[in-house]
Amino acid sequence: MTRAYLGLGGNLGDPVKAMRQALHALDADDRTQVVSVTPVYRTPPWGLVEQPPFLNACAAVETRRTPEELLDLCLSIEASLHRDRAVRWGPRTVDLDILDFGGVALHTERLTLPHPRMADRAFVLVPLADLAPGLAVEGVGIAERLQTLDRSGIEPVVTAPDWWRSA
Ligand code: ATP
Ligand code: CA
Ligand code: CA
Repeated sequence: MTRAYLGLGGNLGDPVKAMRQALHALDADDRTQVVSVTPVYRTPPWGLVEQPPFLNACAAVETRRTPEELLDLCLSIEASLHRDRAVRWGPRTVDLDILDFGGVALHTERLTLPHPRMADRAFVLVPLADLAPGLAVEGVGIAERLQTLDRSGIEPVVTAPDWWRSA
């Protein structure tokens, strides 16, 4: 089993519902178990500014999948939730990124691990710090890394324990 950390985000429709559905789908995979999920945070839009605020969360999973299989699972879940991949960094119903896969370093056309842009993204590291504050990102612990990032506007909005398990 490998412990992997996933980043979830969305800013169209009902992102909390989409994240809940995505987490149910991950957990329903017979080789993957969702172990822990952070609160949902509201975060200022990133990339393209003219779009609604994002909701973001992170999840820890245990999986017997390979990194590529886990990516395929994430992409198929995105597709089933009607994600339209028209604009990179644009609005989306749900985005599922593999942030870390058991510390594996990998770089293929389809998959880079750890996720190459997370070290600069407070909207990823704030929730990830809830699950794995000691995880090293580019050689620096997340909590330490966060001290150098602007985390303004990032606020927890769904904090009920196991919020994602409810219907
Ligand atoms: P960013 O990658 O900067 O967060 P994004 O999530 O908007 O941007 P997408 O359009 O969702 O980008 O993803 C484009 C492609 O990135 C995916 O089809 C996938 O093949 C590739 N990719 C590479 N590394 C990863 C990773 N660690 N997690 C998820 N996708 C990845
Ligand atoms: Ca992303
Ligand atoms: Ca993505």
